[in-house]
Amino acid sequence: MTRQEFLFLSNPEKFLFYALAFASLGIAAWQIAGRARLWLSGKPISWGGPQRAGWLRWLPATSALRWWWGNVWSYVLLQRKVRSSRKRSGAPMHLMIFYGFLTLFIGTTLLAIDTYSPVKFHRGLYYLLYEQALDWMGVVFVVGVVWAFFRRHSMSRAELGRAALSPEIDEALRAKQSVDGRRRPMSHALSDNLALGLLLVLGLTGFLLEGARISANPHWFDATTSPVGFSVSSLIGRVSPDGYRVIWWFHAFWVFVFFSVFPRMRLRHLVMAVLSTAGRPPASMGELAPISLAEVEQTGQIGVAVARDYSRWHLMSLDACMECGRCTEVCPAWAVGKVLNPKQVVQDLRGAMASGEAVASAVSEEALWACTTCNACVEACPVLIRHVDLIVDVRRNLVAEGKLSGPSAVMLRQTASTGNAWGAPAANREDWMKGLDIPLCRDGVEFDWLLWVGCAGATDPGAVKTTKAVAALLKKAWVKFACLGPEEACTGDPARRVGDEFLFQDKAQQNVSVFERYAVRRVVTPCPHCFNTLKNEYGAFGGRFEEVIHHSQMLARLIAEGRLQAAAPKAAQVVFHDPCYLARVNNESDAPRFALGELTELNDALIPERPSRSRLAEPPHLGRKTLCCGAGGGRMWMEEPPTHRPANRRVDELLATGAQTVAVACPFCRIMLDAGIKQARPDDDVRLVDLAELLAERNA
Ligand code: SF4
Ligand code: SF4
Repeated sequence: MTRQEFLFLSNPEKFLFYALAFASLGIAAWQIAGRARLWLSGKPISWGGPQRAGWLRWLPATSALRWWWGNVWSYVLLQRKVRSSRKRSGAPMHLMIFYGFLTLFIGTTLLAIDTYSPVKFHRGLYYLLYEQALDWMGVVFVVGVVWAFFRRHSMSRAELGRAALSPEIDEALRAKQSVDGRRRPMSHALSDNLALGLLLVLGLTGFLLEGARISANPHWFDATTSPVGFSVSSLIGRVSPDGYRVIWWFHAFWVFVFFSVFPRMRLRHLVMAVLSTAGRPPASMGELAPISLAEVEQTGQIGVAVARDYSRWHLMSLDACMECGRCTEVCPAWAVGKVLNPKQVVQDLRGAMASGEAVASAVSEEALWACTTCNACVEACPVLIRHVDLIVDVRRNLVAEGKLSGPSAVMLRQTASTGNAWGAPAANREDWMKGLDIPLCRDGVEFDWLLWVGCAGATDPGAVKTTKAVAALLKKAWVKFACLGPEEACTGDPARRVGDEFLFQDKAQQNVSVFERYAVRRVVTPCPHCFNTLKNEYGAFGGRFEEVIHHSQMLARLIAEGRLQAAAPKAAQVVFHDPCYLARVNNESDAPRFALGELTELNDALIPERPSRSRLAEPPHLGRKTLCCGAGGGRMWMEEPPTHRPANRRVDELLATGAQTVAVACPFCRIMLDAGIKQARPDDDVRLVDLAELLAERNA
């Protein structure tokens, strides 16, 4: 049981088919190679690990192969991001198109192998199953494409999550490129419709061809193995050999068109997404790549001035962008009317990669400074583009060129001179301890945990309340801890994310030498920004810890061990705001809820006698999808009109739950939400507290 390939086709026709097939594939390869030349103009990607000599260096290490395969498996074949980030019909529709296309592609490849290799396996039971799989997955593919058409034309832009594609933005981008002398791109709507139309034609002509094949050359098993093709053959009736050849060429024509044009359409993500996801840097979302002095001496510059200053992977990832707009949909800066549109940043950088123009003129500087580095865009992006890397790398260059002014420039000077982003002298880091008998490392006390206070925790009056509550809880639970007092300096997180990489590195080295002096191995901190930097970024500067945890994680442990009691707020009276650098960047949203007496998976795992019902009010954005307060990325020290504050949007969401207490777990969030609450409810008595304070009240 099998079927004959090139049925009724003459040898010259076969020759013509091969010529056209190679030509269309060549056109696709030529277009991709043109882009690859641009990617290769970037900096090499370092994969770490032992350096290998000789020809071996050209081969990827086994660990790199495992990494690539793991990424392809998870993000491409299992469509992890698509399944987790798309809403309503978006995910199933995309999955149908993807798996349908993938099956047809694999099926065609197997057919080609059988036809051209000496091994003939396309027969017997395997062949029957093969035909049936292709038939049904062809239906899945066509239904997915039709669904996409209807969805596109029946849903509003907002429902599609395509705020980024508003006609104004679209037109502005096209006009800009027109002025720059670049070819005026097709509108997104037209391009999308053409892409979907092409896929639909491929699917439908495939079924037409199968029906014609069955009509012209029927087999006894066709009705079973190709039910759709068989139905089509019943509809079209008898097909002559010449009729079959016409239909065959018609289908082949659209295949050639597909290969020739897909690299110029959003469909290019079929290839680019595989490349970008496979080779994504093995760095966590919260880790920025360091730059070395040697690199600066060699290149004569800091950060990214033109696109080729990015790594090859970052340049390649720009081409993987499918312009879906999901990054813009979740961007807190865009949502409050700022010019930052992460999708457009990627598009502008793509343009700069091709034109060679300076990045700072291709992308608006105002947009670059508006980023809070909240990573919502990175989390949402299905092709794993790292917008924060792209933005901070340009900021580094702008800072080095002296283009930063205002309060954030003052913050950098303060961090450099006092070791405190707020500018308080080092000696003031002990002020909060007065009368509390806090153990200090310099006194030679034995300790298991370093309580890392952070600049805000030692300086800001609200955050100081958190610090005191955490210290009181640690004492209550008999945890052996100590603080560094004046020996603690800013981790350098705000400086790094504003773009002053070498100030960050200076602070990192200073702190690491203090850690070594006191043999610090475990750190607990109430600041998610310090937590992220110590945990994910200090390793590159010699920070060797057994554990770095956030105070919510420490409190959850102590509750689970029966050393503290969880807070017990009245049902729905407390709403918890997940900090971006805890929930999204470091994937921790259970521990704070557990500490607040909420039902979580942690409850199940750690204590059998969990609270009987959910106690927290929850906002629409929570966990990894939390909404940024607007303080990160140095935005805390940048001026913005009250109407453009992300915190106000978040406060509206939190208060809409009806809760009278807003619980936080970050000093930065506390400062921003405090201002937002005072603006939204100047006469109301909404309470803003850190979760540690609620626990301290319960465990007093
Ligand atoms: S990190 Fe946050 S603020 Fe910056 S572009 Fe992404 S979503 Fe917008
Ligand atoms: S950067 Fe990612 S999320 Fe944003 S438009 Fe491109 S593919 Fe979509």
